[in-house]
Amino acid sequence: MKSLYYKIRGFAVTWLLRLLPRNQSVVFAGIGSSLGLCDQALQLGHRRILVVTDAFLAGSGLLDGVLQRFAEGGAEVAVFDGVEPDPLFEQVEDGVAALKENRSDAVFAIGGGSVLDAAKLIALAANNPGDLAFFDGIQKAKKPGLPLFALPTTAGTGSETTPASVITESGTKRKVVVADGKLVPHFVALDASLMRTMPPRITAATGMDALTHAIESWLSKASTDSTRDLAAAATRAIFEQLPRAYRDGEDMEAREAMAMASFQAGVAFGRTSVGYAHAIAHQLGRICGTPHGEANAMVLPEVLEAYGDAVVQALTALAERVAPDGTDADHRWLIGRVRELRANLGLPLKPEGLESAHLDEVVRLASHEAGEFYPVPRYFDAATLRGIVASLL
Ligand code: NAD
Repeated sequence: MKSLYYKIRGFAVTWLLRLLPRNQSVVFAGIGSSLGLCDQALQLGHRRILVVTDAFLAGSGLLDGVLQRFAEGGAEVAVFDGVEPDPLFEQVEDGVAALKENRSDAVFAIGGGSVLDAAKLIALAANNPGDLAFFDGIQKAKKPGLPLFALPTTAGTGSETTPASVITESGTKRKVVVADGKLVPHFVALDASLMRTMPPRITAATGMDALTHAIESWLSKASTDSTRDLAAAATRAIFEQLPRAYRDGEDMEAREAMAMASFQAGVAFGRTSVGYAHAIAHQLGRICGTPHGEANAMVLPEVLEAYGDAVVQALTALAERVAPDGTDADHRWLIGRVRELRANLGLPLKPEGLESAHLDEVVRLASHEAGEFYPVPRYFDAATLRGIVASLL
């Protein structure tokens, strides 16, 4: 009965994703494009800018080029560096307060997915005052947000292009997905020079996040020819370039390819949503504090195996698109390639702190999340989900 409800719900979500009105982005790409993004803000007449970032990045010197460019352009910049990984609603509130205090007329986000997600909601909340809990759900905001400029410093979440912000409730630690087409940043720069300092473990985890987006998007019932093209391009690039970026953070060709792959996967899953790997990963993040990309990597191949016959054809088609010429590529090859990549990146296979007492809760919440929001190729029963999660103990 539940499975029928989820199928109908999945059909409705598919159409909602297709019809969701969303901001159009202008994208700058290439080394140094972050300065082009500053020039764009200045050309549009913004002279009071709120830079949103985190404390580590603010102290790392990574912002220096941007701040100097704004100073040369005569802009008054306030830096809000109060965003932490997996940001809380309270941090978004603090950001909105900083924005009001500085009378900022634009938001310029510099950071990983956590910073981008917080900045997106700060810009939206600035023009839609009230309790932030109101935004929980789909397309809740009445008015467009402030002009929003996004400069990702990790290559993984695709948040620079998605109509979503993932914000955590401090009490329950529930990850709330705020979905609104008005969250899509208006201007984006994919400048890999800002990703050079990412340590190998963050490079690996965020890269596996992008791979999960690409593969789950490919398998989504909401996928279209154009999202599949993007997902395949991203998958191929990640297989080839993530090991290079992981081994040598100074390899700018690999960093640039990863920045683009993450963006492409973001465009794709922003139109198709994701699947069970994400549904489980969100619970691992909440209970164990597992970084999002690592949590996805822990379950992606296992989720693909569990889909079974429902994805054999689709995964074989993806394998044929991404495998090197001459490879005998089918669904087994693709799943094996994901396992091999995960192993070569040295990522942990089990979350710290997961106990058997958590199993029921993870299964219940992951089942609810996928059933309500993700048009997956097959809905798992509780025993299948339990088997995947139990393998993490
Ligand atoms: P993150 O933003 O949480 O950053 C992780 C760490 O990396 C931080 O300590 C940060 O300071 C550091 N860091 C970032 N860039 C760096 C750089 N260039 N050099 C050195 N250190 C750097 O990590 P993330 O994986 O990018 O984002 C995860 C968050 O994004 C989660 O909250 C997740 O739920 C969310 N997310 C959102 C979407 C979306 O569509 N909105 C999609 C996927 C994930």
